[in-house]
This record gives sequence, structure tokens and C-alpha cells, in this order.
Amino acid sequence: MPLSDFKEAFPLLCSRLEQAKRNGRTGQAYLFLGDDAVFLEKFAMAWAQTAACTGNTPTGESCGHCHPCDLFQRNCYPECLFLRPQSKSRQITVEAMRQFEYDINLAATPGLLKIGIIVEAECLGEEAQNAFLKTLEEPPPNTLLLLLTVNSRKLLPTIRSRCQTISLLRNRQSYELAAQKGLFTVLAKLKRGAGAGIGLKTSARITAMFAELHKDAESLAEETKDHRWDDTEDARIKKQLEEEYIAKIEAEYVRLRESMLSALTAWFLQRFLICQGVRKDLLPHAEMLEAEEDIFSAPPKPEEAEEDIRLAEELTSCIKANVDERLALDAFCLTVSEKKPKPASRQ
Ligand SMILES: [Zn+2]
Repeated sequence: MPLSDFKEAFPLLCSRLEQAKRNGRTGQAYLFLGDDAVFLEKFAMAWAQTAACTGNTPTGESCGHCHPCDLFQRNCYPECLFLRPQSKSRQITVEAMRQFEYDINLAATPGLLKIGIIVEAECLGEEAQNAFLKTLEEPPPNTLLLLLTVNSRKLLPTIRSRCQTISLLRNRQSYELAAQKGLFTVLAKLKRGAGAGIGLKTSARITAMFAELHKDAESLAEETKDHRWDDTEDARIKKQLEEEYIAKIEAEYVRLRESMLSALTAWFLQRFLICQGVRKDLLPHAEMLEAEEDIFSAPPKPEEAEEDIRLAEELTSCIKANVDERLALDAFCLTVSEKKPKPASRQ
């Protein structure tokens, strides 16, 4: 995807970057800050191609015909290194960082720019960040370093100050994925007194959404697969690639699932705010409650709404701790939809 595909959303930013390229003044280290890790990676690849292009177009855009452009378009640019959280712990270890730095310092193929991309840089621990500082201070010649993050507060000020920060923020927080999967419509039916039938049905629907997310993660891994080693006969390399491929799917799935769970908690938070008397047009995410108009005329009790937020947070931490997803969802949905015994009649 060339940088021109992002011009509509970020016209000034794209022209500034292209101008830098045209004038031969591209930086060596950038921090791309955004609200969506996948989007950031696409943007980073577009900028990497522009920076690596040898076509010297008058506008600074990538030419699409030179050797580096051709390699990018075929997804097999050999000098592009990635460092990303791969395990379920979502951490980038200091060992992984050291390996990355070692690879960055190896000489690049003549004529090609060496590119190092740290995806989800917020997953770097302090030790890993400190280990990276020296490379960031003095990157090897002919190298471009790109750090991508959705949470720059987790990065040391010394890291941030050594990069050109580029903001690609679109929304404060996007719950597009959850809306698209129909999460809010399903949650609208989940309320106190709805009963176990609704509770279990809701849990089954959310479980099915999670299964879809896993499929989405598989498709993404397939789309971004590295084809350089397709023909290898080496069993050891094949096994390693297969393991990396599976780890990539799992990491992406966990990321998508986290975004759904944060949307779920946010949904209960909107409901709580209504109970607190916040007007619909002042809710941070009124769009979530479109499927539930009656909540504004008959909101739940504040203490129940607050308890639901706590339960949603508990659900999130259980799932993050690898508790069986279906069990955790069942327990959550059953508690929230619980039928309270009716108060005894006074007669
Ligand atoms: Zn080119």
C-alpha cells in the first residue's frame, strides 16, 4: 500500500513526509503514534517503501517501479526487520531486543535501506527500552527505525525524545470492531432480571464473535505472510516459520479480543453514566447505545450498573489470565442477567 493511499486521511502529514524524501532529509528514527496497531503497521510499511524507493520522483512519492518498490509490492523486501510481542504475555523481551539490534547492525544488501520496525512498542519493558537507547542515539548509517505505539506514555522520555513523533490518531478510542461484530446489540439484551436463558444466549453469541476474531487473525497472518522462504526444503526453517506463523495468529487474536473486551467494559460504563444523570449527547460513546433506546427512560439502578462494570473488568482479567473463555463468559452473563427474588408481598 503506497503512502498516497493515506493522503485523504492525513494530507498534511503525507506531504510533509514526501517533501522530506524529495529533499533528501528523511529522519532515521520515527515514532508513529495512533489508536490502531494494524493501521500503524500499514502506514509504517507505506513510509518504509517511500523512504527506500530509489526512483527519485519529483513529488517525493514512491515510484512503484524501482527494485526496492518492486520488493515491497511483492511483500518480500529483505531488509525489513520486525520486532513485535509474540507470546501471550504481550511483552517484548530484552533478549528479543538484543537480537533485533544485532540484526539491525548487520550490513544491508547494497542499494537497499535497512529498516527496523518495532510494532506495539508499548510492550517493551524498561530494560528492553534502555537496551535500545544506544542504537536509537546513533543508528547505523543507511538505517530507518520506526517505533509504532498506541500508548506512548509507556515509553521512556529518552526514547520519545530521540524520535520524530508522528501522530496518526483518528479517534480517541475506536470501538468500530465491536460495533461491526454486533457486540452492542447483543449486550442490549443483557440486563438484570432478564434470566438465565438470555444470559446463556448472550454468552454463546459473544463466544461466536471470538471465533470470528480468530478467523480474522488467521486471514491477516496469511495476507502478511513472508514469502521469501516458500520454497525452502530445510525442515528446521520450515518448523520455525510454522511456529512463528502460529504465534503471530495468536498475538493478533489476543489483540482483537482485548479490543472487544475493552468495548464491552466501555458499554457498561456508558450505562452507568446514564444512571448518574449524564445526558445522551454528552456520553463519550452514545453511539454504543443506539440499540437500547429504553435505557434513557428506564435506566438500571446505579448500584447495579456500577456492579456490572466491576463484573466486566473481572471478566477481562479472567480472560487475560487464560481462564476458559466460555466459562468466564457464562459466569459473567449469568450474573448480569440474574433474576432477583421478588420482594415478599406485604398482604
Ligand atoms: Zn521506487
